[in-house]
Amino acid sequence: MKPIIYDYTLERLRDWMKENGEPAFRADQLFDWLYAKRVERFEDMTNLPKGLREKLDDQFRFAALHEITRLESKDGTVKFLFGLHDNHAIETVIMRHNYGNSVCVTTQVGCRIGCTFCASTLGGLKRNLTAGEIVAQVVTAQKMLDRIGERVSSIVIMGSGEPFENYEETMTFLRIMIHEKGLNIGQRHITVSTSGIVPNIYRFADEDTQINLAISIHAPNDELRSKLMPVNRRYPFADVMEACRYYLEKTGRRITFEYALIGNVNDRPEHAQQLAEVLKGMLCHVNLIPVNHVPERKYVRTSRDDIFEFHRILVRNGINATIRREQGHDIAAACGQLRAKHMDSMAR
Ligand code: SF4
Repeated sequence: MKPIIYDYTLERLRDWMKENGEPAFRADQLFDWLYAKRVERFEDMTNLPKGLREKLDDQFRFAALHEITRLESKDGTVKFLFGLHDNHAIETVIMRHNYGNSVCVTTQVGCRIGCTFCASTLGGLKRNLTAGEIVAQVVTAQKMLDRIGERVSSIVIMGSGEPFENYEETMTFLRIMIHEKGLNIGQRHITVSTSGIVPNIYRFADEDTQINLAISIHAPNDELRSKLMPVNRRYPFADVMEACRYYLEKTGRRITFEYALIGNVNDRPEHAQQLAEVLKGMLCHVNLIPVNHVPERKYVRTSRDDIFEFHRILVRNGINATIRREQGHDIAAACGQLRAKHMDSMAR
């Protein structure tokens, strides 16, 4: 199988050009066709010599994704189910906000982390995506937005999968996204979210980027976190918090803690109080995400009053917190639900 052209950073394309007897500037021209002009055929890259176009066509492929389904919500959220060359399927979501368009990308087919409230993990991990397969999700979103004269203004790496278990490919993806000759997405408009893969939190802190870090915390203590997120047995709560403190010291950048509220499980006032104590004094923000009913786990949604009470306790204790506005509710936009339905129908 030929590599996807989107797998390559500009620097790697320059090396490829040199190795193939071409001047390095041809890589810049190619990059411009890929990300500024967004063509999807080498033959359309008219300022590249014909022989080079043929060689590129011979050695690389474009077709990273094909659209299986597209659902559009009343609130503007668009959810894609994409097929990959090996028949796997992944989800990508475009969220329309009044401040711009955000794309939520997937980094793995399935996930092995096993969070108990998440549909993406039900079939386990199938494989990592390549950087190009992640890039192609954003390029496809941008091409859709091109039709209405808008651009992707932010990226969240919060789709299926654990990006820090596919670290190299995720970082290559990010380098392509932030490149000024690429889509040139502002680093501060990108957020990578991890379930707490401790060694790679340290590694990410040392990368010297302005990219935001979000940690899925979901519980204020080890015991409860281990029940909700088996990864906590591998990387305990205290180790995650220590890695977070290192990140804060190293980067001076605020961390976002994602907290999925599950009715009667982790949403009691004492949980909010305990969370506030753990986070006291940290440069952070808590994003409360009310979880929808998960029939497989008998989870129920936290009541409106309890959501506000949880939020109030955090704020009263000096913790910066917000409640996530739900988007795409009418199109099953929660992580992994569309793919799960697709896998179900394939199995029948
Ligand atoms: S929430 Fe994220 S890390 Fe947890 S199982 Fe789902 S995809 Fe994996």
